[in-house]
Amino acid sequence: MTSKTLNQFLDDCIAELKENGLYNAIDVVQGANGPVITIDGVEKINLSSNNYLGLAADNRLKAAAKQAIDSHGVGSGAVRTINGTLDLHIQLENKLAQFKGTEAAISYQSGFNCNMAAISAVMDKNDAILSDSLNHASIIDGCRLSKAKTIRFGHSDMKDLRQKAKEAAESRAYNKIMVITDGVFSMDGDIANLPDIVAIAEEFDLITYVDDAHGSGVTGNGAGTVKHFGLEKRIDFQMGTLSKAIGVVGGYVAGKANLINWLKARSRPFLFSTALSPADTIASAKALEILMGSTELNEQLWKNGTYLKGELKKLGFNVGVSETPITPCIIGDEKQAQMFSKRLFEEGVYAKAIVFPTVPRGTGRVRNMPTAAHTTEMLNEAVSVYEKVGKELGII
Ligand code: PMP
Repeated sequence: MTSKTLNQFLDDCIAELKENGLYNAIDVVQGANGPVITIDGVEKINLSSNNYLGLAADNRLKAAAKQAIDSHGVGSGAVRTINGTLDLHIQLENKLAQFKGTEAAISYQSGFNCNMAAISAVMDKNDAILSDSLNHASIIDGCRLSKAKTIRFGHSDMKDLRQKAKEAAESRAYNKIMVITDGVFSMDGDIANLPDIVAIAEEFDLITYVDDAHGSGVTGNGAGTVKHFGLEKRIDFQMGTLSKAIGVVGGYVAGKANLINWLKARSRPFLFSTALSPADTIASAKALEILMGSTELNEQLWKNGTYLKGELKKLGFNVGVSETPITPCIIGDEKQAQMFSKRLFEEGVYAKAIVFPTVPRGTGRVRNMPTAAHTTEMLNEAVSVYEKVGKELGII
């Protein structure tokens, strides 16, 4: 047998993705991300961004970023442990700790590398990690990188988690055991059962790690899912991202001072990748200030989310089990989900189809992300397009 050339391999793989409706074309947005975006010169109602509070183009963040560029330039110049740690990073990290109610916090260049960094800095081949089966790809990769034994438990299945935690603890095969979960599951919008997870963790001495990328700014009046359940003192790692409700880019872990000191000493993107830029750092700090100062944007987000979900449900769409503003319309067949999204786009609504491997096979969907910045008129217009296209394709 001869081996494939790179070109044969790539052509075969891409053809297979296309045949199965799994190949996503990449759209180019002209201008800022907001409730309305421009693609190929045409405005669309945007229901596909993680810009939950509409802060990505907020004037207060833009002004702070411009000022930081004037005072600190555009690059931080080095990795954090050489001379890339700016006073702005310390300001941001102090605010993050305050936001999450912890002793300290560390920032990273993205949420994805934050999970890779933090999990692998603490867990190793002598350890085990209990991981929810719907956890984000960056958690999965962080677990792999750590070389710990990963034990998946059924999605939010507390009976399964307890059984697997008990087996792992009683086997005495591992030095440390961690349980790790998303706070809010981004594809379905459901919230992790953190009170039960914490109880199981305390029963079996597990380390607790919550990735609240989609909860921060959203649940707990904006403070996130750990705060929502009042568990600040009982979760070891509160991980989050600066790229969604905060509106900028970057990731962070908040926790006890000794954990943060260890991550500063050992997590590889902190040691080997250049620090967050001044503009991103200070814009994120400004967003936190806004969030901690008022719940107004958070309330508007929930109002819009509840409204959109209610209207789509009334039309007969399957919006699944969402407990947050995230509103999926679950269709099942991947090709039909892609077709639905395409027709919505042609009618002026940007709502992306989400298919395998982002969600399990056979659960293709169009996922809607209403934000605080949408007006009722925009949502109503989107709902009438949903009704038209849903009927046309026989989905409702
Ligand atoms: N965790 C979760 C649950 C996410 O949804 C995402 C973003 N898709 C990330 C981590 C990665 O965050 P970032 O986009 O900041 O890299």
